[in-house]
Amino acid sequence: MKQYDAIIIGAGQAGGPLARKLAAAGKKTAIIEKRWVGGTCVNDGCTPTKTMVASAKMAYLAANSGPLGVKIKNFSVDMPKIKKRKDDIVHQAREGNQKGIEKTQNLDLLFGEAVFTGEKTISVKLNSGREKELKADLIFINTGAKPFVPEIEGINDIGYLDSTSIMELDHIPEHLLVIGGNYIGLEFGQMFRRFGSKVTVIERSGRIVSREDEDISEALTKILKDEKIAIHTNASATRFKKKTGGNIVATISKDGKEEKIKCSHVLIAVGRTPQSKSLNLDSTGVKVDDKGFIIINDKLETNVKGIYALGDVKPGPAFTHISYNDYTIVYRNLIEKQKLTIKDRPVPYCMFTDPQLGRIGLSENEAKKLGIKYKVAKLPMAHVARAIETGDTRGFMKAVVDPDTKKILGAAVLGQEGGEIMTVLQMAMMGNITYEQIRYCVFAHPLYAESLNNLFLALED
Ligand SMILES: Cc1cc2nc3c(=O)[nH]c(=O)nc-3n(C[C@H](O)[C@H](O)[C@H](O)COP(=O)(O)OP(=O)(O)OC[C@H]3O[C@@H](n4cnc5c(N)ncnc54)[C@H](O)[C@@H]3O)c2cc1C
Repeated sequence: MKQYDAIIIGAGQAGGPLARKLAAAGKKTAIIEKRWVGGTCVNDGCTPTKTMVASAKMAYLAANSGPLGVKIKNFSVDMPKIKKRKDDIVHQAREGNQKGIEKTQNLDLLFGEAVFTGEKTISVKLNSGREKELKADLIFINTGAKPFVPEIEGINDIGYLDSTSIMELDHIPEHLLVIGGNYIGLEFGQMFRRFGSKVTVIERSGRIVSREDEDISEALTKILKDEKIAIHTNASATRFKKKTGGNIVATISKDGKEEKIKCSHVLIAVGRTPQSKSLNLDSTGVKVDDKGFIIINDKLETNVKGIYALGDVKPGPAFTHISYNDYTIVYRNLIEKQKLTIKDRPVPYCMFTDPQLGRIGLSENEAKKLGIKYKVAKLPMAHVARAIETGDTRGFMKAVVDPDTKKILGAAVLGQEGGEIMTVLQMAMMGNITYEQIRYCVFAHPLYAESLNNLFLALED
């Protein structure tokens, strides 16, 4: 049994940087990773998807260059090349992350699967076949999440795709059926439509991205339908059957009626489930909720003193920047003796459809539910000079404000560079800059951000 000061399970977005900093702070540290350093973000999430989203955008621009006076004839999509570019970028990022860990003194990187065997003791089934026993007073669980697969009749007979395996395709599906009209499903749906697939999206709720305000769902639905993506809402897949010849027939229940859709590939994108089960958490006394997420307090500590959970394996928003921020909170509390918590931290995010949706703070629906006094400022991208000049006026900017304090409570920007514009508003929120100040602020012309003047001029006092 090897004794460490700190053990980290999972080299994800919190685990890797935390391990390096703890080791540098003098703690004898071990980090255990069962697959690849960098976790989901680098290997199966943000990095590969955004790489492929860029290829899809290039195809879209080539197909739609005519209105800007540029004729592109006979362009084609080279899927093996798109995949290779994605793989190269992922490998580079992964290797960079791994080298950073390997060159850190005081830090052991073990490739294998960690399982708790008792109170703060861990057994690692090394990928080499051997086993190792470790122990530490401080343990950090950063094991992330994996795609959730719903129980649907026939699902295991059709070779369905998930968010990881779809990026291994070296061909363009003829007809991709996407189960789940949320962030991941829509990013992939639009991407493969732009590569040339026929795409159908099935969403159980009454609208896609149902966590967002209705006007965002509506505008996004129009944007995707304009690209000839079929969207069925209030619909769920109830059965799959593989036909001879390879095609798949999906039975869809929609508004109480059954419908059959023939497709070539099915992508399951209905959410993610925490990787906590195989950790044998009972043996060390760590509690999980009914969905398997590790229960933590607002300093990210579990019910067992000295054991922490960071990133997607705990409840709450599942984003790379949140996992990374978890690491900075835990590290600064432990080593710099600060008293930071995850309460009230900003949770910005961006959906990388094209145009993007950048979001921060309260939505209009959330403000309504809270029963607070609020006003909504809204500006269509068709009124944004830069959008007109660039030739893409899809979407709108929207902000929820407090009419008394003039503070910005939240924002949604669906448009080109929507994530970047949202970030300008996030900075304003963090610095308590009022919408009146932004209304009369001098911004460089003609930027998308310049239109924040007009967004807030749209508010009548
Ligand atoms: C398709 C897709 C696109 C995404 N796009 C974005 C985006 O654009 N922006 C964004 O912010 N977020 C995005 N996300 C979410 C983001 O990837 C995750 O929120 C983030 O990676 C969470 O990191 P983490 O640190 O919690 O865990 P992870 O990065 O998942 O790392 C967990 C690690 O733990 C390892 N592990 C698990 N169990 C064990 C064990 N028992 N022993 C040893 N090792 C173990 C795993 O192999 C893994 O490497 C996307 C996700 C997906 C799937």
